[in-house]
Amino acid sequence: MTGFRRYGCFGKYSSIVLAGLCFLILVLLSLHASQTPWQAAHRISGASSRLLARHKGGLGETVPRDLVTQPNSAEIFIDDTLDVEEEEEEAEGEEKQQQQKQQQQDKQHHQQQEHQKQQHEKQQQQPSNKTFCPKKSKQLVGTIQTYLDPVNISTVESKYPEVRKGGNFRPKECTARERLAVIIPCRNRTQHLHILLNNLLRLLIKQRLDFTIFVIDQDLPTTFNRGMLFNVGYLEALKRGSYDCFIFHDVDMIPTNDKCLYRCTHNPRHFLSGVSKWKYRLPYKSYFGGVVSFTRDQYRKINGDSNLYFGWGGEDDDLRARILHKGYSLLRYPQSIGRYDTISHQRDSGNKANPARFKLVKSAKARQDLEGLNTARYTVTSSVTRRLYTKIQVYINMTEIIQQTAPADDRSLMQVLLKDPKAFDEEVVHQERKSTSTTSTSAQIK
Ligand code: UDP
Ligand code: MN
Repeated sequence: MTGFRRYGCFGKYSSIVLAGLCFLILVLLSLHASQTPWQAAHRISGASSRLLARHKGGLGETVPRDLVTQPNSAEIFIDDTLDVEEEEEEAEGEEKQQQQKQQQQDKQHHQQQEHQKQQHEKQQQQPSNKTFCPKKSKQLVGTIQTYLDPVNISTVESKYPEVRKGGNFRPKECTARERLAVIIPCRNRTQHLHILLNNLLRLLIKQRLDFTIFVIDQDLPTTFNRGMLFNVGYLEALKRGSYDCFIFHDVDMIPTNDKCLYRCTHNPRHFLSGVSKWKYRLPYKSYFGGVVSFTRDQYRKINGDSNLYFGWGGEDDDLRARILHKGYSLLRYPQSIGRYDTISHQRDSGNKANPARFKLVKSAKARQDLEGLNTARYTVTSSVTRRLYTKIQVYINMTEIIQQTAPADDRSLMQVLLKDPKAFDEEVVHQERKSTSTTSTSAQIK
């Protein structure tokens, strides 16, 4: 009886004590985060519901890549650069003009005397008060025909005499608003590259952009690493010119609308809203593969791509997590503008599905500052300026990257890639294809 009474007595006061404790915790938390106790309470409830959402819909080792959905997929914003960013870009215009002047002065200062003379002559030939190129070129029509048939590079070259050696174009009649580097990872896909150039150059020229095409190839036999080739492209492009905007472009994605502007904006952008191979839909809402853009600063701030994704899959999900973790939003063109055709192909040899990818994606945020652009080690084995592109070939030492740049937890996870040749088993890919073929078209962004 006494015991019961004591228990009852405790029960009577426990709620008051508990409430008091909770309030104390809230006050401590809010002091720590410089918030009111109510903001802190809101954050806690938000975090716990996100945790629940992740638990339900998050990544799991057995979930195939195409079924991976991120709980925060709603953070992709559909917008149309042509309408939305008008005002911001006006404001940016003057700043850019100042920056461009400064860059030009710096460059001239450091060039040799003879080169300066040439520059001077060129400047005299050009009109001195060139205006900025229009934001929306009058030549843009919307839907355009795509050419997916194999084409000879010489045919493409003869179509674009205005493109200078190395794959550079600059409008003569106006000053482009930014300098664009198009980075295309490409190994054993030369035919695709020619098809892409046959379509893409026409669009870029019409949009009056100042651009250079960089093709980044990786030496065989090392397993392909798309994410790391993005880092290589970024770093190597900046060694060759002062680019403001980077568009990372799969070799088999062909734009079908010339109003899909190849420009950078205040947030990273995913260009695809629908792809022919998925009936002009996307495999899942948070998909961030294919074609994406970053300003120079955006890409540096997110520490670029991870270097750890050897083989197919996962690196695009990791990239997306990095962007959101640094506080950026994601933009995507509306359905009509972000329509892409794709060139059909088999999975490449040397790019088998990466069995570690699901676990790796889970540590994306924790790894972000530890590895990426700041730990990209590679050797340039050749650098050639072709008529329509600059080709940079690199050797990547997988063992070195994993053993010397992966954080300890991820390193042990990845030992399997180094030790077990069966880790890249075709079987994994077959199983995935089977399970994704029935469900992969369910998500569509409107
Ligand atoms: N890629 C390449 N050679 C390879 C594997 C991939 O050039 O052996 C490049 C190419 O740009 C390709 C991109 O990486 O478009 C993505 O690979 P893949 O096309 O296999 O991916 P998916 O079709 O599944 O998106
Ligand atoms: Mn592909």
